[in-house]
Amino acid sequence: MSVVMEPVIVIHGGARVIPGNTAPEKVEQYMLGLKVALESGFNILNDGGSALDAVMESVIFLEDNPLFNAGRGAVYTSCGTHELDAAIMDGRNRNFGATCTVKHIKHPVKLARTIMENSYHHIFSGEGAEDFARKHNLEFVKNSFFDDEDRYKELLKARPDGVIVRDHDLDPGAPKGMGTVGAVALDSFGNLAAATSTGGLTNKSCGRVGDTPLLGAGTFADNQTCAVSCTGFGEEFIKKLAASDIHAKMLYGHMPLDEAAEEVVFKHLEPDSGGLIAVDRKGNFTMPFNTPGMFRAYRTAAGDSSIKIWE
Ligand code: ASP
Repeated sequence: MSVVMEPVIVIHGGARVIPGNTAPEKVEQYMLGLKVALESGFNILNDGGSALDAVMESVIFLEDNPLFNAGRGAVYTSCGTHELDAAIMDGRNRNFGATCTVKHIKHPVKLARTIMENSYHHIFSGEGAEDFARKHNLEFVKNSFFDDEDRYKELLKARPDGVIVRDHDLDPGAPKGMGTVGAVALDSFGNLAAATSTGGLTNKSCGRVGDTPLLGAGTFADNQTCAVSCTGFGEEFIKKLAASDIHAKMLYGHMPLDEAAEEVVFKHLEPDSGGLIAVDRKGNFTMPFNTPGMFRAYRTAAGDSSIKIWE
């Protein structure tokens, strides 16, 4: 296959961010976490690798980083446990793999990809998902592997009022900020892919499934239009089918990517509900959010690169 496109990768680390007065050393840790994840995915694209491999690689790095609410840094459910969701989508053929409410999988995005590539089914949840992971030799950890003192404090604060919150919602002064993670990419063959992984919302009910592992809600990719990964209040993104609505606006309404994404984020979604990253088949990309910030970063083959947290 001949090389036709200049590759690009965009990542996010959640739409609820640390406060602006956070200590510079702490800010630096977030920036570094995003940089390492961005570079790892970009290097794959730069070496002629696939968008699918690139988005998975970036998400694995973010899942391994306790600062972000995915994998190692997953928040707590109302039962005091951790339940993780993840999805991956291949824009070439709309193949989709996802997993939800898994408790012992170190890298849920790897399980999502294993499901996509090795099963007739697209989504596996809970114990069935973990059985599938066992059969495919994925790495298991104890649920306590995801424990974190600061996150537990967030749960204790959320519980009395029964509120379900994103990271930082309860404690704007907290030094520790996290968020769902995701990546979208266009590779040099013109293929698009998207991946998203999350611990969900603090104090979510056990068994609750968010937008992340639902095709068209939190994750979407189709080579005809774009690849999208969302972050925010999952229920809102599910109701609005946020990710695939951008695709539909582009495909049927012939809207450019940025207009379609802005319409979804600023007109359809509730204010302060979240944000998303998206890249189209020509390599245009956008990162709109209706929250005070969103951990985000991009890198293009032309050398253009940026890592940002706030506006
Ligand atoms: N969208 C995720 C969920 O609802 C949470 C987040 O993005 O912060 O599970």
